Amino acid sequence: MSNENKTIHEFDFNLICDFFKNMERQGPGSPEATLKALSFIDNLSDNSCIADLGCGTGGQTMTLAKHVQGKITGLDLFPDFINILNRNAMQSGLQDRVKGIVGSMDNLPFEHEELDLIWSEGAIYNIGFERGLNEWRKYLKTGGYIAVSESSWFTDERPAEINDFWMDAYPEIDTIPNQVAKIHKAGYLPVATFILPENCWTEHYFAPKVKAQEIFLNEHAGNKAAEEFMKLQPHEEDLYRKYKEFYGYVFFIAKKTGR
Ligand code: SAH
Repeated sequence: MSNENKTIHEFDFNLICDFFKNMERQGPGSPEATLKALSFIDNLSDNSCIADLGCGTGGQTMTLAKHVQGKITGLDLFPDFINILNRNAMQSGLQDRVKGIVGSMDNLPFEHEELDLIWSEGAIYNIGFERGLNEWRKYLKTGGYIAVSESSWFTDERPAEINDFWMDAYPEIDTIPNQVAKIHKAGYLPVATFILPENCWTEHYFAPKVKAQEIFLNEHAGNKAAEEFMKLQPHEEDLYRKYKEFYGYVFFIAKKTGR
């Protein structure tokens, strides 16, 4: 079968993982955005338990670890990503407080009401925004926080090209007011919402992709599927540059209410 016109969904997971492990982040974001989201959270202490779901190689996990006390568990489906997080935690001398584990966000290994904070940057879409909010809530203490970044529409209407792209990639994308209403409905008090600045995409995501691409193509020289996968990458960036006033990533910070 030809790889032409394939979407990312049709490529082998190992190949996707092999590419993204060469990057500090696997989605748009930045240390500044992580710290801004963290600034709205006021319940943390040395005894806090924090989970970072879909942590990838743990770029934001390490940022969090350097700015909060307490224990952080980073969880991701891909062992290679988790190995990188654990290696970085070790190199920073944070291995006693930061631990990466392989697991799935739809089957979390935590006790009910165990967590003070659930973090998830650019990853809740894997389970779905509403489903994640609803299913993860039971692991939080009352008064605990959730901080997630998620793709959002900035306008009620948008050009067909970008609408079609998202309807194929992630039809649950929604406008910010609708997403805030979903947070409220799921049993949280919405505390803050902010749009990730453009440099979270350009400087912290698209630029590192170019370097990662070089490494990846060297490692997979002659592999047709790898070459085709790389050909897809500029499309995401082209779309962003063309349609960035219509969509982006938004950080949502909310607090679990007693209902
Ligand atoms: N938080 C990181 C990674 C975001 S990319 C960052 O912002 O850089 C999304 C991540 O979700 C990937 O690392 C992917 O491996 C992970 N993922 C996908 N499905 C998952 C699942 N069911 N459970 C846990 N992690 C998952």
